[in-house]
Amino acid sequence: MNKPKRIAILGCTGSIGTQALDVIRKNHKHFVAEVLVGNSNAELLIQQALEFKPNAVVIADESKYQQVKDVLFAEDIKVYAGAKAIEQIVEMETIDMVLAAIVGYAGLASVINAIKHKKPIALANKETLVVAGDIVTQLAYENAVNLYPVDSEHSAIFQCLAGELDNSIEKIYLTASGGPFRGKEKGFLQNVTKEQALKHPNWVMGSKITIDSASLMNKGLEVIEAKWLFSLKPEQIDVIVHPQSIVHSIVQFNDGSMKAQMGLPDMKLPIQYAFTFPERIKNDFPRFNFLDYPQLSFEQPDKVNFPNLQLAFDAMAKGGNMPCVLNAANEIAVEAFLQDKIGFLEMSDLIETCLTKMSFVQKPTYDDYILCDKETRAFAKSLSLKKAL
Ligand code: NDP
Ligand code: MG
Repeated sequence: MNKPKRIAILGCTGSIGTQALDVIRKNHKHFVAEVLVGNSNAELLIQQALEFKPNAVVIADESKYQQVKDVLFAEDIKVYAGAKAIEQIVEMETIDMVLAAIVGYAGLASVINAIKHKKPIALANKETLVVAGDIVTQLAYENAVNLYPVDSEHSAIFQCLAGELDNSIEKIYLTASGGPFRGKEKGFLQNVTKEQALKHPNWVMGSKITIDSASLMNKGLEVIEAKWLFSLKPEQIDVIVHPQSIVHSIVQFNDGSMKAQMGLPDMKLPIQYAFTFPERIKNDFPRFNFLDYPQLSFEQPDKVNFPNLQLAFDAMAKGGNMPCVLNAANEIAVEAFLQDKIGFLEMSDLIETCLTKMSFVQKPTYDDYILCDKETRAFAKSLSLKKAL
């Protein structure tokens, strides 16, 4: 790599965003944080901006604009606020790559606009492809823009596919840790608290994805993400539980040969690979030691006690706007669970009701997706309020 790559970090104050800044901090020769975008954590955004001296920052929460501007104006850093500014900032000519690490549906519009402006995307925000995978991948194709996966499973598949351009994939296996409640049954799950659900055995992540991991919805979203990223048919995607999270995913080719990508669970590696592809650069991340893991084990996912995974497979099979409904209902369900309004298993009930009751649109436009997201959220919210009573 010659010139440093200038990266816009959308979601810089989150788990992926701060780890991406760690990668940049250790590789100033290769990367520059050109733009930083946060939501509400003004203190951290300011601190990051003072350290990385980006060209511009955006804070989604407009009430924090003055606070950020007061400090950064003197540093000659441009400051903007609001959702529209996030969507627009990705157009900046000096951005070489956009890291999409905003959580949830809120990350969609900026990714779409970045693709329209031909910016390569390092994609952490899986909800973007779950909600509107057909539109996003079509736009990427039309604009000749690459989507580099950051999600560890998809990065693993992507790494396994290097050098295999002309070879057909028979199947992929996405690995799942099983989360903190692996092996538990519904009798136990109905009483679990958010504190228990937020304790992931192998990964430290933002709260939404951590709850998704506990309910297996994260794997469901990843199945849909994989379908779009790798142009797969639903029957080519399988999930296997692997509690140690060392094998990050597996590709099986048409001759039966399987390639897997392995390593310690550390998001910095897939973030760095998305930044440097097709090169790899040296780093000091901890290395895997076989003797620390004398056994790697695999088991079937439990779709009976964790219905979310089956709901996601069903939504993918039905297609149209159903994955968008799944995502919106899930975002509201997770929020309600985190506010102690509904129980752990009630999240699945709520999502299932939305999938049954929302009207089906076979070939949605972008506007259809926006409307579908809005209506599903309103409906899911009314259901969560009823349950909370
Ligand atoms: P976090 O909750 O830790 O961070 C979310 C980031 O998005 C924060 O910077 C937050 O800002 C910002 N944000 C939230 N809402 C908005 C909004 N409306 N507008 C603009 N910015 C917003 O999440 P993670 O980093 O864990 O996850 C980010 C994405 O990456 C998710 O889609 C997740 O599924 C995916 N991912 C995460 C992994 C992980 O290990 N964490 C692994 C694989 C994928 P603020 O903090 O200032 O409020
Ligand atoms: Mg993942």
